[in-house]
Amino acid sequence: TKKLAASHAKGEPTYSFEFFPPKTSQGVQNLYDRMDRMHGFGPAFIDITWGAGGRHSQLTCEMVKVAQSVYGLETCMHLTCTDMETSKIDEALKEAYNSGCTNILALRGDPPREQEKWEQAEGGFRYARDLIKYIKTNYGDHFDIGVAGYPEGCDETTGSEEHIPYLKEKIDAGGTFIVTQMCYDADIFIDWVHRCHAAGIPESVPIIPGIMPIHTHASFMRRATWTQCHIPPEWHERLEPVKNDDVSVREVGKELVADFCRRVLDSGTTMHLHFYTMNLAVATRMVLEELAVTPASNEHNPLLKPLPWRQSLG
Ligand code: FAD
Repeated sequence: TKKLAASHAKGEPTYSFEFFPPKTSQGVQNLYDRMDRMHGFGPAFIDITWGAGGRHSQLTCEMVKVAQSVYGLETCMHLTCTDMETSKIDEALKEAYNSGCTNILALRGDPPREQEKWEQAEGGFRYARDLIKYIKTNYGDHFDIGVAGYPEGCDETTGSEEHIPYLKEKIDAGGTFIVTQMCYDADIFIDWVHRCHAAGIPESVPIIPGIMPIHTHASFMRRATWTQCHIPPEWHERLEPVKNDDVSVREVGKELVADFCRRVLDSGTTMHLHFYTMNLAVATRMVLEELAVTPASNEHNPLLKPLPWRQSLG
């Protein structure tokens, strides 16, 4: 994602798509087809998630390889560290390296169950920070290292403010960009970015909002409840009356999510949008078309409202 830092510096908006390894081989094939089509939307990079505890890790590595070397997509591999053997981390990094992948999102993952009694092994991993140090020691500057950020706090124990010094530690250890837990409230995101900067996280490090486009009302509510992210009251007011009609939910959702995107871009706190696609193309595509940032939407819709940050797209 070196390109990401460059476009960030130039003030050009970019976006990325996150996918997870599907459970069946047919699902994998369908996802490759979808990734190929979504390539046309012009993402700066795509992410492949890492199954907790290394579940489906072989598939994650294989998908990284296909996306990077067959489809030519700039690919970022997620990797967790506290929930599996170090040998699995070594294998994954080696495979990513051999695939030509240069981006890792370094994560802690779920800690072992009996967390209270758990003691970090000598030289072992306790936090994402330890994985970042390990990658730097073994691969120098080969990988751009992304880290997770939490505008609304991480776990029950670390609120949004308490988490910031630990986030800074991850950047000091070698993290080069931050992707946040999903967020739907632009004010919360913007305020939190300012607080990160006030705490000494350099403005040159992109802080990227994680955005989940709305596919159905049920999935939207499920994820929002699970991550405990705040939903602005207006969103409920607009979605509730149409909640049983998926087509209307996507239409309204597109407007709400695009409005969030415009607000964070216009605030100058970020130039990049990260979409949790849930392996589905349609809702993400609708948001991008609403924002008029895909190459195709620029071509086909000359009447789209000009946005301040759109001028630079050329
Ligand atoms: P850390 O940064 O290590 O933080 C973990 C907790 O410890 C936080 O509460 C933090 O504030 C606190 N902390 C950090 N350092 C210290 C310290 N020195 N002293 C005391 N407390 C400290 N999970 C997966 O299994 N696979 C994925 O692919 C995946 N992708 C993700 C992508 C994004 C963008 C995000 C936001 C999360 C993702 N997760 C994924 C979930 C992630 O693994 C969990 O949220 C995990 O509980 C925390 O990971 P972390 O890397 O943020 O941990």
